[in-house]
Amino acid sequence: MASMNIVNVGKAYGSLTVIHGVSVEIPDGEFVVLVGPSGCGKSTLLRMVAGLEPITFGDVVIDGKVVNDLPPKDRDIAMVFQSYALYPHKTVAENMGFALKMRGETKPFIDERVRKAAEILDLVPYLARYPRQLSGGQRQRVAMGRAIVRDPKVFLFDEPLSNLDAKLRVQMRAEIKELQRRLATTMIYVTHDQVEAMTMADRIVVLRDGRVEQIGSPLTLYDKPANIFVAGFIGSPS
Ligand code: ADP
Ligand code: MG
Repeated sequence: MASMNIVNVGKAYGSLTVIHGVSVEIPDGEFVVLVGPSGCGKSTLLRMVAGLEPITFGDVVIDGKVVNDLPPKDRDIAMVFQSYALYPHKTVAENMGFALKMRGETKPFIDERVRKAAEILDLVPYLARYPRQLSGGQRQRVAMGRAIVRDPKVFLFDEPLSNLDAKLRVQMRAEIKELQRRLATTMIYVTHDQVEAMTMADRIVVLRDGRVEQIGSPLTLYDKPANIFVAGFIGSPS
């Protein structure tokens, strides 16, 4: 668990500024959803928080410590990607343990972490299988398992459900929320899907063209949208 403070963070690609000083304070254990139309800068912001992309200005602060210059592996953050990022020629157990192996952990340590994550995710019977032998939902759980085994302080999700069908998406939303309840970990979840934001978030950050339009609970955004953009975006079906 960790608090996360994004302080006036900006990003420019050459002369093109795509994030114009975004600030979000996230207390320990909160589930924050970053929502906005395609191209508004959600992935760029998340990648800067993860350390996968250098920030142009501002600070990323985890538990009171500025981490701007730390490489991703030293940030205690894990990012969950879409399930198609799994290694096809590795088993479920190998997929889940890979980051720990790269970190030089011992086999007993890795096996223990993988087993615990598999229990949380209902993947114990599937540890010896390959990704192609799993359903879409199981594959997405393996993608989450890869993050859980690292026991991070913060989880980042970048549209993890966007390649799943509608029914599975609804189920996985509930599973991710349940995961958050069990782990009580700070999570930042990116989506362009308003329904996902409204049903999953403790608080929602609405982004537009690299700027924060509003931050608030789903109810606040629905009842008291700050402007027509928020009202239209939150009010329209996905
Ligand atoms: P989102 O995830 O909300 O769809 P992105 O963060 O991917 O948006 O992109 C935000 C903006 O930054 C877009 O206008 C995109 O074209 C631009 N962008 C993203 N990556 C690069 C890059 N490597 N070079 C130049 N522009 C980029
Ligand atoms: Mg994106």
